[in-house]
Amino acid sequence: MAEVLVVVEHSGGEVKKVTLEMLTLARELGTPAAVVLGGPGAAAPLVDKLSEYGAAKVYAGESADLDGYLVAPKAAVLAALVRSVSPGAVLLGSTQEGKEIAGRLAVKLDNGLLTDVTALAADGTATQVVFAGSTIVKSRVTRGLPLVTVRPNSVTPVPSAASAEVSTVDVTVDESAKLARVVERKVEAKGARPELTEASVVVSGGRGVGNADNFKLVEEMADLLGGAVGASRAAVDSGYYPHQFQVGQTGKTVSPQLYVALGISGAIQHRAGMQTSKTIVAVNKDAEAPIFELADFGVVGDLFKVVPQAAEEIRKR
Ligand code: FAD
Repeated sequence: MAEVLVVVEHSGGEVKKVTLEMLTLARELGTPAAVVLGGPGAAAPLVDKLSEYGAAKVYAGESADLDGYLVAPKAAVLAALVRSVSPGAVLLGSTQEGKEIAGRLAVKLDNGLLTDVTALAADGTATQVVFAGSTIVKSRVTRGLPLVTVRPNSVTPVPSAASAEVSTVDVTVDESAKLARVVERKVEAKGARPELTEASVVVSGGRGVGNADNFKLVEEMADLLGGAVGASRAAVDSGYYPHQFQVGQTGKTVSPQLYVALGISGAIQHRAGMQTSKTIVAVNKDAEAPIFELADFGVVGDLFKVVPQAAEEIRKR
């Protein structure tokens, strides 16, 4: 079976969930082989997790050049690897970095590219979400190999134990790929709450929350449920909550077991980031709000009355 290259998303020595999703999808197409691109020593802490999710091989591309510059060196190393191992397909995360590498890789290989893929069939046919989540299309790369970016939270990661053999990748980076250097990295302080895109419960607030101070109500509900806090763009643009918590087309995509929308109307651009949530609960004082078309459970009411009552009930349990 052909090797399917999965470009590993990782940070702080941990494999990100989208990588486990990609390894799960890759098994549909062939034998998953994980590609770790990072600074010296980046691969070793990741190998066990990658094996647990079916990686039969780990290609380790480690160099200060990969860590110290923007994505151009990673795209160059990846293009050389693809040329040398001729995989059956290449999967990257539909994340900011994954998409940028994928675009550059497609140009270098003169290959087609499909982004925001949510499912892949064995013949390489991809299911893609387009137009802000309003349309789902089936597509195939017709020039070159299937090169796809996978939308985070589209697939349930399923373990499939393998014993990955680690193989070192040549990392010779041309000076032309080193035109933009990383001068500083600011790691977002990791609070007690789970990471938004990986949380199994997300409680989001919208313009209906009214102001930044009232967002404490959203945070309290998230903490009671052990979840992450999200926000609509209107809430973010109004300065109620920071942008990194925005859910939607121009924010993050989440797909938790439970999504609670408080004072959010349910505009298509917001839905694009949360509509694949397993159970959706909405609280909105307007019975006609579009969020109710999507919600599994809806409460028509004032969130400032409903949320404290719900919190009280949850605390009793
Ligand atoms: P509103 O639409 O104003 O809705 C507020 C809701 O709160 C109303 O339904 C109201 O009935 C309810 N409400 C008010 N008070 C209460 C109360 N006391 N109790 C209960 N309910 C109450 N939006 C995103 O969210 N994410 C994106 O990534 C995003 N990207 C975009 C990209 C583009 C190119 C464009 C054009 C728009 C984008 N938007 C995005 C904006 C989107 O179109 C909506 O404007 C936005 O989602 C609305 O946010 P909201 O639901 O919080 O506000």
